[in-house]
Amino acid sequence: MGSKRLDKIGDYVRHGFDLQVFCKCGHKAKIDAAALADRLHKQRQSPMMMFIEAKLRCSKCGRKDVTCGPGWKDS
Ligand SMILES: [Zn+2]
Repeated sequence: MGSKRLDKIGDYVRHGFDLQVFCKCGHKAKIDAAALADRLHKQRQSPMMMFIEAKLRCSKCGRKDVTCGPGWKDS
């Protein structure tokens, strides 16, 4: 396997990525991975990306079929 494993939000934090979220409507959003990991931990929710992706909703159109990927942190 040549690519990094990003199964959990903690993997994003460890690799220095933010969470880039894409919606089919064209809307893109970037979420601070460390802040999200902290929030999930406090809410005792799953840190697994498959659960996070299922929970996310587009802030523009409200659709739930969004796609997550790694995004570089803005400097
Ligand atoms: Zn959307």
